[in-house]
Amino acid sequence: MKIIVAKNSGFCFGVRRAINLAINLSEKVGRVYTIGPIIHNPQVVEELFKDGIIAARNHLTEIKGKNVVIRAHGIPLDVLNYLCSKKMKILDATCPYVTRSKSYAEELMRDGYTVAIIGNPDHPEIKYIHSYVPGNSIILKSPEDVKKIKFLKKIGVITQTTQSPENFIEITKKLLHCSNEFKIFNTICPDAIKRQKETEELSAKSDLMIIIGGKNSANTQRLAVISRKKLSETHHIETAGELKKHWFRGVKTVGIVTGASTPDKSIKDVVDTLKKFGLQ
Ligand code: SF4
Repeated sequence: MKIIVAKNSGFCFGVRRAINLAINLSEKVGRVYTIGPIIHNPQVVEELFKDGIIAARNHLTEIKGKNVVIRAHGIPLDVLNYLCSKKMKILDATCPYVTRSKSYAEELMRDGYTVAIIGNPDHPEIKYIHSYVPGNSIILKSPEDVKKIKFLKKIGVITQTTQSPENFIEITKKLLHCSNEFKIFNTICPDAIKRQKETEELSAKSDLMIIIGGKNSANTQRLAVISRKKLSETHHIETAGELKKHWFRGVKTVGIVTGASTPDKSIKDVVDTLKKFGLQ
């Protein structure tokens, strides 16, 4: 059986940067907190916990120290203000691509546009961006959401960094009927686009696809959706322990792709497990 691991796999730049910043800080000051998981990968978050990097999950009162690292997706403005009011020492590890989207949203608002944010309203990245343009923005998850919009004077568009280009284009096309004046920023992350493209290519030439990454990771979920469109034999797993030997009966080629917050170790574990199955 042939195993093909996608070239763009393992941590992306933003995730690697956030983790390194948090580790470097914890080596200097000891225990540090993140507001919510620093990245969407439960196994990595658990490992970081052992290094003294603690995810305060729901309550800011869980923070029993002064050092806080802002995670890769950013945090809402009111939470940032709360941390500042408590005189916390804050290290911003928000991915620069996410910060850039937020800056575009602010620029659009300043220039009088209603900001259309394409993405999932429950995702931390969208909550972060929305918190900076609260009164002048609308969040659009699907093309159907555009029906709710009345005609607006000026619309400025940005999108979640891990959005699929198809959804971005579909929603933007529909928005064209809702205003005469537009400004559009394509804020999809280049890394996310590469992974989506490679998933499409790999799923077209594989008999079975393994997508490794957090079940709570938007970009990993997106890769699983893309792969399933081409190949129903697509399995989204977090760890090698979830692999089942019978999945691979009669399979000649397995494609492996990962979300942006999946460490290299998870890929190695999956490949090693396939070898143990006696399939390579
Ligand atoms: S996927 Fe892109 S936007 Fe998200 S953390 Fe990685 S580099 Fe940043």
